[in-house]
Amino acid sequence: MKIGCPKEIKPQEFRVGMTPDAVREAVMHGHEVLVRSGAGIGSGFADADYTAAGARLIADAASLYGEAELIVKVKEPQPQERALLRRGQILFAYLHLAPDPEQTKDLLASGITAIAYETVTDSRGGLPLLAPMSEVAGRLAPQVGSWTLQKANGGSGILLGGVPGVSPGEVLIIGGGVVGAAAARVAVGMGATVTVLDRSLTRLSYLDDLFMGRLTTRYATAAAVAEQLTRADLVVGAVLVPGAAAPKLVTRAQLSTMKPGSALVDVAIDQGGCFETSRPTTHQDPIYEVDGILHYCVANMPGAVARTSARALGNATLPFLLALADKGWRQAIADDAHLRAGLAVDDGRLTSPPVGAALGLPA
Ligand code: NAD
Repeated sequence: MKIGCPKEIKPQEFRVGMTPDAVREAVMHGHEVLVRSGAGIGSGFADADYTAAGARLIADAASLYGEAELIVKVKEPQPQERALLRRGQILFAYLHLAPDPEQTKDLLASGITAIAYETVTDSRGGLPLLAPMSEVAGRLAPQVGSWTLQKANGGSGILLGGVPGVSPGEVLIIGGGVVGAAAARVAVGMGATVTVLDRSLTRLSYLDDLFMGRLTTRYATAAAVAEQLTRADLVVGAVLVPGAAAPKLVTRAQLSTMKPGSALVDVAIDQGGCFETSRPTTHQDPIYEVDGILHYCVANMPGAVARTSARALGNATLPFLLALADKGWRQAIADDAHLRAGLAVDDGRLTSPPVGAALGLPA
């Protein structure tokens, strides 16, 4: 099959859909891989890395979309990319169609088949193509939080790890899923005093076993949140209620109960945020202050570390993209219910009931 890897054109997107390692594997499986020149630059891959892996470089997007049978990319196609899609083509990417009627309309009109990374499932009930980005955002959270706490950024001036003779800072993580566990790992590694709150006792039990006494777990009642807030130097918001906006777990009034100059990192901002005072920010201007408390609410945190993120995403997508290319999409989804869960558009027909419900379309 001819697989095409375009250059991402969405603003501030530095990742790339296929790494040179993924290209090499696809070529070993007998496929031809077309890569848009410059596609990997933002992730640290030169054109020469792709040609060494066996790719053919393509100078312009129109030729790449014109030739490729399977398009593998990161973000949803932008309007000018959608104009290049053609009937019979397969698109494998993050799509997030539910809040995006324009994109959905264009994909249906194009007659393509689209498989959305974000709804592919695994045997443990997880989302294997979202999880690597949650790992990245979670590990970043204490890093950006500790930077936010520095005096020059308006923070309280606490070093999370402390030093001999001086107490470490206190990190409160609300939500102990993929993001929360990853944040806990880094915060514990920094030497902070860490507490994780969650509503899932199974999850708290898992974290308790995993960290063997190096952090405290607490059931996430409103009272527990209120009490822990008064002690925290850094709060990481990492909750998710699947399919719903994030619940607001910290009110504006509660900010005045916190130590001045403390920091909130709201990783759940892509679902609306779990602090009442959160609003989305960008990597260019990530921090703002409300009532003496600093807020970091960047909605695409993995973009800050595109080299790591592109490799992590590439590792996770590779088995699925090989199945699609080796077997053809119909056989691949017939053989794998988890890949089938990603099918959003089938030959121009909407096949995702949640997207249909959100947009008032038959599915
Ligand atoms: P996850 O499903 O693995 O974990 C969410 C956890 O929240 C679960 O353990 C759940 O029990 C817990 N939870 C739900 N309601 C709660 C409540 N009221 N109080 C306490 N805990 C509660 O999800 P995840 O992969 O860790 O993702 C967390 C959030 O981070 C999501 O909104 C995700 O979209 C977001 N995210 C953001 C970025 C970014 O760049 N900002 C990147 C990746 C993920």
